Amino acid sequence: NYTIATNFVQNIVEEDLKNGKYSEGIHTRFPPEPNGYLHIGHAKSICLNFGLAKYNQGLCNLRFDDTNPTKEDVEYVDSIQEDVKWLGFDWEDRMFYASSYFERIFELTIGLIKDGKAYVCDLSPEQMREYRGTLTEPGKESPYRNRSVEENLDLFMRMKNGEFADGERVLRAKIDMSSPNINLRDPIIYRISHTKHHRTGDAWCIYPMYDYAHPISDALEGITHSICTLEFEDHRPLYEWTLEALGFDANTRPKQIEFARLNLTNTVMSKRKLRMLVDGGYVTGWDDPRMPTISGLRRRGYTPESIRDFCDRIGVAKSNSLVDVAMLEHCIREDLNKTADRVMAVVRPLKLVIENYPEDKVEYMMAENNPECPAMGKRMMPFSREIYIEQEDFMEEPPKKFFRLKPGGEVRLKHAYIIKCEEVIKDEAGNIVELRCSYDPDTKSGSQHNSGRKVKGTLHWVSARHALQAEARLYDYLLMSDDEENTSDFLAQLNEKSVEVIENCMVEPSLAYTAPGNRYQFLRQGYFCVDKDSTKDKLVFNRIVGLRDSWAK
Ligand code: ATP
Ligand code: MG
Ligand code: MG
Repeated sequence: NYTIATNFVQNIVEEDLKNGKYSEGIHTRFPPEPNGYLHIGHAKSICLNFGLAKYNQGLCNLRFDDTNPTKEDVEYVDSIQEDVKWLGFDWEDRMFYASSYFERIFELTIGLIKDGKAYVCDLSPEQMREYRGTLTEPGKESPYRNRSVEENLDLFMRMKNGEFADGERVLRAKIDMSSPNINLRDPIIYRISHTKHHRTGDAWCIYPMYDYAHPISDALEGITHSICTLEFEDHRPLYEWTLEALGFDANTRPKQIEFARLNLTNTVMSKRKLRMLVDGGYVTGWDDPRMPTISGLRRRGYTPESIRDFCDRIGVAKSNSLVDVAMLEHCIREDLNKTADRVMAVVRPLKLVIENYPEDKVEYMMAENNPECPAMGKRMMPFSREIYIEQEDFMEEPPKKFFRLKPGGEVRLKHAYIIKCEEVIKDEAGNIVELRCSYDPDTKSGSQHNSGRKVKGTLHWVSARHALQAEARLYDYLLMSDDEENTSDFLAQLNEKSVEVIENCMVEPSLAYTAPGNRYQFLRQGYFCVDKDSTKDKLVFNRIVGLRDSWAK
């Protein structure tokens, strides 16, 4: 009973299933390169690949595309598994590494050379670029193109045995130097790299190129639909050439389908650039709550449900577009509106003394945890003579429609009483440091003795004696510009005020035993999540999003 929003890839899958093309069901894969943490763009691919498999009762593999040893690391392998699981997907016993196929790919390549479909080329990278031609000019054939099979086999073995330096020779597919598609002009399929691989160590000093290893890995795993992003559209002929040349059965071989990658406003969305932010110290790490990584979003307080919902709503299309980040924010608000407890927290406290309320008295006010969901229950909130309200909820000289507290004015304290501001206390510098108020005992919320009197404003508050001190981290976008893809120097576009740390917030005592990862609505302030830095003695909250929804449906 898993449902997905229908999309063009699902239509292709349905058509194939209807035609009995894949008798054993469909089989997809999510193939991250372990060279960084996953980001929200990857979530789109994860939801698509795992979602299609789940919906069509097929299978989806997790495959680490680790054919480039220079940038890869086990730290990333671990984080990727954690993130995919957290998003709610399960590869069961089908976790693979492209590097596990190195031996197999090598053997297939020997066959390819024997068939005269690949050759060792000694051109330098510069020469090769020159010979490749341009979009308007055909390429030139390499002088090494017509080496004998014997010589090619010998040189390739010697490449494998480490006799040559990095870049000295490559293995190229022998396709067509005059093809209008540059990807088919004898692409490199193996290169020399004397680099330790995170899994195979020093076993190999030649590595297959992505465009070559990928279709082989897909075919070896029995993938039916190999879904990738649009940049690979004109690599598809090479994908097909590889499978054809290596003799994979045309009836069952995988087919490549391209979809549009996700781009989000105000968001950096490439691992390379995200790594620059981490390495340059612009953020505290891959899981900095401002990062669009899955681990950053998780720490910020996003739920897996909200991210899956977002991926459903943006859909899967064949042309690139830019999605408003407000839509992602909309999804987490929708989720937490129904699932998060609503509590009172004063971010910038102003002390308020209720002069006619007895000194030692404490009343416990009944507060519902979430009016959208009565089953979430109620709690008791202590109320006393001294409370904190939000600084911005008082103005000495307010504009006309200010319905919060002002000198001589009245407001209701949520779940408690109507109070009236009697006096404003200032320090020598003229700053407001305290308000003196009175309360009307006949206005207790929910009480039978409530006079029924109504006032316009309702404020949140916490009892000063019972409140817990907390730190709030208020986040803004990392990037000022809307459109990162089209920003040449993205570091110059970084928002210098992407986080504001407020140390002395006051939160209600029910939060004493909260734990990292818990999410709340702070009434009138926004949604917050307990950060991993939080301890019992020092609570730390991340603001996930404010309450105002700026997404135009
Ligand atoms: P980046 O450019 O951010 O480094 P990548 O494509 O190099 O991304 P991979 O690890 O190769 O990263 O990605 C794994 C899978 O996730 C690929 O199939 C890729 O198509 C998909 N993917 C990556 N970025 C996005 C995105 N922004 N939107 C949708 N899918 C994406
Ligand atoms: Mg990639
Ligand atoms: Mg990349």
